[in-house]
Amino acid sequence: MSDLLTVIEPATEAVLAEVPRAGIEDVDRAVASARAAFPAWRALAPGERARLLHTLADTLAAHVEELALLEARNAGKAISDARGEMGMVVDTFRYYAGAPERLLGDTIPVAGGQAFTVREALGVVGLIVPWNFPLTIAAWKLAPALAAGNTVVLKPAELTPLTALRFAELAKLAGIPDGVMNVVVGPGRTCGQRLVEHPDVQKIAFTGSTEVGASIAAGAAASIKRVTLELGGKSANVIFADADLEAAAAAAPSAVFGNAGQDCCARSRILVQENVLDHFLELLEVEVKALRVGDPLKEDTQMGPLISAAQLRTVSSFMDDGASVAFRGSAPDGPGYWFAPTVLSPVAPSDRVAREEVFGPIAAVIPFRDEAHAVELANDTVYGLSGSIWTRDGARALRVARAIDTGVLSINANTSVRVSTPFGGFKQSGYGRELGPHALEAYTELKTIYYATEA
Ligand code: NDP
Repeated sequence: MSDLLTVIEPATEAVLAEVPRAGIEDVDRAVASARAAFPAWRALAPGERARLLHTLADTLAAHVEELALLEARNAGKAISDARGEMGMVVDTFRYYAGAPERLLGDTIPVAGGQAFTVREALGVVGLIVPWNFPLTIAAWKLAPALAAGNTVVLKPAELTPLTALRFAELAKLAGIPDGVMNVVVGPGRTCGQRLVEHPDVQKIAFTGSTEVGASIAAGAAASIKRVTLELGGKSANVIFADADLEAAAAAAPSAVFGNAGQDCCARSRILVQENVLDHFLELLEVEVKALRVGDPLKEDTQMGPLISAAQLRTVSSFMDDGASVAFRGSAPDGPGYWFAPTVLSPVAPSDRVAREEVFGPIAAVIPFRDEAHAVELANDTVYGLSGSIWTRDGARALRVARAIDTGVLSINANTSVRVSTPFGGFKQSGYGRELGPHALEAYTELKTIYYATEA
């Protein structure tokens, strides 16, 4: 008999739900069910698989408000953000609903016949996702995996399983055949690890900490299992003196405090050219103090609590290192894992807060001298996920964009993620790309077929 997992609402610390906690035997059952469903799902005509994914997108679209409310309560995120994220979930399924009919190959001229390539589904894919964007990150993996003809076992984080469980019900309602999409709610160290080690799982797609990512890559190596990893970040928001400083300051808070800073793309290092540092900080202070932090379910809330008491302890520990607080925003008193948005300045590049992923609402402001110094500081990290460059000099923007070692960059904006463009990291931020046309490559194998034509 499985025990019960208690799901907490981070804004109130109250019990939100109790759900059965899976064990290793439940993972094995889910993998067996996905394996049994694979031949028929792979063999489905591409147009039919596309039709089912469109129906799934329609079904999700009809439940956006319900899913957004569930996500906002379970993850403690602002309801307006949760709505946007659920919209992206729908868009992700719509985008990849076009994929089954566009899994194109090449024809390659060779002697004596014809060579061509096809993309084959992998089989059963294990998806292990974190608690910061629970259903959104799951959708980035589910949609291309299913579109390519794989069947899946999804393991959400134990802290945030509710939208994944509801998603499974909606997938059934949309007509996705039994066994194609399975959810297992259980601990990473047992259920996640079993997925990594299971001989019938062909690939693991993981988002989470670099530490766990490394252990997954090591575990998968034994069976040469395919792995894609979306891991941590310490992204730089580089602001040159010639930038539109008002626009850069207005945009900076959401880029680091959005989702209470629990975002792998958080621009948690704000690099500012030293001759405009004081002016930029004056502008930023106004923006940070105006941030509305509070009840995630209030329509105008911009930032909610942290996910858990443990995360609150981790984030708070960065304040014990003696960094100088430039200013802070507000946070409610009382129950809930609250941490006020905090700007530290000036921070030395060697400080822990400038080197480690905080995963909470703390921004480290680091001054730089010139373009070369900015690039040096931006690259002075083991991570390489995202980043931004603010300048009115177009040639400099492109030079710096090419020089910074990260997977995604914005110029005069702070966006990282779009359904139609590739997303993923350099260095210890992981490997493989999600979203956009390239994600399908990570859920298929390339096969070469040669057909002899000489009589
Ligand atoms: P984890 O990397 O531990 O968790 C991510 C997912 O992996 C969860 O589903 C977790 O399961 C699962 N997992 C944990 N251990 C294993 C394992 N040995 N084998 C397989 N799966 C496993 O992140 P945390 O939740 O512990 O967060 C810690 C820190 O990681 C954060 O403070 C942040 O710095 C970083 N992080 C980065 C994220 C990103 O998007 N880059 C996302 C989340 C965290 P379960 O939690 O249910 O046990």
